[in-house]
Amino acid sequence: METCKRAGRVLVVGAGQAGHQTAAYLRERGHKGPVTLIGDEGRLPYERPPLSKAYLKAEVEASDLWLRPETFYERNAIERVTGTAVALDLATRTVRLADASLHPYDHLVLATGARARAVPVPGAHLCGVHRLRTLADADALRSALPGARHVVVIGAGFVGLEFAAAAREMGHRVTVVEALPRPLARVVSAPMAEYFARLHQERGNELLLGQGVARFHGNREGRVTAVELTDGRRLPADLVLAGVGAVPRTELAEGAGLEVAGGIVVDGRLLTSDPHVSAIGDCAAFPHPRALARLRVESVQNAVDQARLVADRLTGSDRTYDDLPWFWSTQFSARLQIAGLGGGHDTELVLGGDAGSFSVLLFRDEELVAVESVGRPADHMAARRILAQNIPPALWEAAVPGFTLQGHLRSRAGRPVPAAA
Ligand SMILES: Cc1cc2nc3c(=O)[nH]c(=O)nc-3n(C[C@H](O)[C@H](O)[C@H](O)COP(=O)(O)OP(=O)(O)OC[C@H]3O[C@@H](n4cnc5c(N)ncnc54)[C@H](O)[C@@H]3O)c2cc1C
Repeated sequence: METCKRAGRVLVVGAGQAGHQTAAYLRERGHKGPVTLIGDEGRLPYERPPLSKAYLKAEVEASDLWLRPETFYERNAIERVTGTAVALDLATRTVRLADASLHPYDHLVLATGARARAVPVPGAHLCGVHRLRTLADADALRSALPGARHVVVIGAGFVGLEFAAAAREMGHRVTVVEALPRPLARVVSAPMAEYFARLHQERGNELLLGQGVARFHGNREGRVTAVELTDGRRLPADLVLAGVGAVPRTELAEGAGLEVAGGIVVDGRLLTSDPHVSAIGDCAAFPHPRALARLRVESVQNAVDQARLVADRLTGSDRTYDDLPWFWSTQFSARLQIAGLGGGHDTELVLGGDAGSFSVLLFRDEELVAVESVGRPADHMAARRILAQNIPPALWEAAVPGFTLQGHLRSRAGRPVPAAA
């Protein structure tokens, strides 16, 4: 185990949610050695979730997104360096930035996140074809949206649908093109996907499901004018959001010879194939006791909890990562909350009949693995406690009329359940 003293100089590459949190937790836990946070965005570390929600609608400003003010880093002796890390030398334990400066470390934390995936079709470079990963991306969308007449989203994942909801609330009728037969297909159950599909349609957005994109058309000035679908149809478009997922930023790790497979490969302690290098957050592929295979998770919870684990390890408290995954998304006034990992589930049980307020319990081999809730924050909080404490209801118990997650938790834990998230 690396003790506080042995951790010495900690270098964090990537000044996003996970990188910031690592530095903050290290100081909170009494780490005395130097801590350096290297980021290539030239801004204070900020939270990304509002970029596709409140920030897009100008309900909050950039300064509302900073995770901590400038003075926090000064007060806590966290050195912030702006630059892109381009090379990692495991033998000499140094990171080189694009400006050729060298940064030595005793322990390196890779928190390089992910970048937005491009749509791999002709015309993807045209002006007016946007992505949404950074504050700069959101700023570009914020300035383009007021003048846009035909808004098209490619991909009905969380970012695409959150953007479509925000744009609709700003008065645009959005067409969402999705290659799979239902929205959010990889991330939520069929009943939940159907609810969000209906919600968008009822609010006036159009969903074109099971449709691929063949190319983007542009005018002489290089501006996008239309999206051509694989069935030959052309949708007029002057603002397109490519919301087709994110690719982990693994190039630094790969260049150094660290193991990379769908993310920077780490063990249960979040250590890479080099014991002096950890990887956390969106860039890391990690084992989890609740998962069938190695996972890469894009969520704030994952970034924060993994940062905490690494800071704990570097200050003398070692453990294996098994924190319960949870997630949220807001579209229109609907707040979706997910506890657990639903991948590979075989049974769905819906609690609550009201369309705007229900939960879906997901079972695998009769074991509760995840709960998706919309408009039922008390269900979500109960589900988190039930799953984290490993006191799930059996499938037959949950199927009994009148079953509630809060009632189940009370009966097992004997403690009151918090009313809301
Ligand atoms: C639009 C949007 C909405 C989201 N909404 C939600 C939500 O509602 N709920 C939720 O739980 N999650 C949401 N997420 C996901 C969540 O924001 C991410 O999971 C989280 O930001 C991951 O943190 P991270 O630090 O791993 O990566 P990032 O936040 O991506 O930070 C990585 C940082 O490292 C920098 N970097 C990368 N390589 C280098 C290098 N070589 N040198 C220097 N710097 C480098 C990057 O520029 C970036 O600043 C959303 C994400 C987006 C984009």
